[in-house]
Amino acid sequence: SKFVHILGVPFVNTTQTAFIHTLQSRIERQEKTFVVTANPEIVMHSLEDEQYKQTLAKAQYITADGIGIVKAAAIVGEPLPERVSGYDLMLDLLEVADKNHSSIFFLGAAEEVLQATVKKAKENYPGIQIAGSHNGFFDWNDHLLPQQIKNAAPDIVFVALGFPRQEQWIGAHIDKFDKGVFIGIGGSFDVFSG
Ligand code: UDP
Repeated sequence: SKFVHILGVPFVNTTQTAFIHTLQSRIERQEKTFVVTANPEIVMHSLEDEQYKQTLAKAQYITADGIGIVKAAAIVGEPLPERVSGYDLMLDLLEVADKNHSSIFFLGAAEEVLQATVKKAKENYPGIQIAGSHNGFFDWNDHLLPQQIKNAAPDIVFVALGFPRQEQWIGAHIDKFDKGVFIGIGGSFDVFSG
């Protein structure tokens, strides 16, 4: 089936390659998309925190971020083909964006990590458009940042605020935006820029 449920969390039953094609066509059709890359910690947290569970329910896709989820799926008798991690999705989305000249907003991490991430992304993927960027240490009551992202209307928004903040931030603001793939990718900017 299309989804594999692990402790109530519906994981999309897909490979990395097939999922990137799914996201690429959603970008082309300008379909707003919320992607959660979930590890066992996220699944466990959803059991304890009803509000977080409701946030996950807003996502179109929850992918298996790590071998722990793939192993759990095999144990419940509904195997997932492979892990589809946030970092791998970031790299593949950068490649797609490079080819299609898509625009990207980078949100999260410390200012110097963010700047290094944007610089390296521009160098390695010259076809991308930078819609904007903001570090991950901001006042959550400030509505200017979501307004800035709405106005920029990026095709892709990398949200690297770590768990559970990135899912909470996307869940709180996704209704405002007209388009864009919003994906929580944890510490990926630190890895990418490091
Ligand atoms: N971070 C952030 N804002 C915060 C707290 C953390 O942008 O208020 C960033 C942090 O700088 C790092 C990432 O979020 O780049 C968290 O990485 P981690 O590997 O801890 O992610 P997790 O495994 O918790 O999802």
